[in-house]
Amino acid sequence: MEGATPKTALEEFVKHLLENGGELELGRAVSHLSQPNRKLVSDYGALEFVKRYPRLFMVNQTRQKKSKVIVKLDVPLKFCPQAGETGGCTDRRCDKLHLCPFFVKESCKFGDKCKRSHDFRDEHTIRVVRHFRLDFLSSSLLQKILKIIVEEGEIQRAAANRSVPDICKFYNKAVCKKGELCPCLHVCEHFVDGDCKFGATCKRNHDFSDDHNTTVLEQYDMDGISIRRVLQFRRERERKRTMSASSDGENR
Ligand SMILES: [Zn+2]
Ligand SMILES: [Zn+2]
Ligand SMILES: [Zn+2]
Ligand SMILES: [Zn+2]
Repeated sequence: MEGATPKTALEEFVKHLLENGGELELGRAVSHLSQPNRKLVSDYGALEFVKRYPRLFMVNQTRQKKSKVIVKLDVPLKFCPQAGETGGCTDRRCDKLHLCPFFVKESCKFGDKCKRSHDFRDEHTIRVVRHFRLDFLSSSLLQKILKIIVEEGEIQRAAANRSVPDICKFYNKAVCKKGELCPCLHVCEHFVDGDCKFGATCKRNHDFSDDHNTTVLEQYDMDGISIRRVLQFRRERERKRTMSASSDGENR
């Protein structure tokens, strides 16, 4: 019989999250686990299991349904910007990674000549990972998690940069009169938020590959970055901003 241990269950759990862009509904994540791991996690209590690893996961109840819990990978590891500079990072107590983010994504052009480390087991990486008590992760799992962190950084930079198309408000209310000439994306905003209740039967677009959206996106250099995640990040940020603006008003 295959032995399910908290470690194998955790690895499988993280793998499913990674396959889903680092975020998944808790019930769904558990239902995807193989039988022995699913039993172990369920016996333990899915939410309790996730909460055992506060350095790995962030747990969110959704706005609409209180019973729905979203689990997100949230790892405190960061890449040191100094490591790529001439001379490298000289801070001996630096708690950021000196690994090459491009190497993590398997796309570093510099190879042997790269100023940053291309070794997950180098001394500094081991120390940083241990510092955050994440040294129970296998190298391959660590690499996958770091890849998500690199991509998250790219998504945040793309979202901060105004050169990302907006979601068309008219299309989401009723019809967009501009039709094909509209410079905005014709995509379901609930799909972007991850909470469209119509799913496959939704009459609005749940992908970006139709003629209109393809034409709109051609004007922007998205270069392998998930447009959905960029838009999602941006909408979350705008929501937070309006929320804090309205609470500022109340304090007056
Ligand atoms: Zn450093
Ligand atoms: Zn490199
Ligand atoms: Zn439009
Ligand atoms: Zn929809």
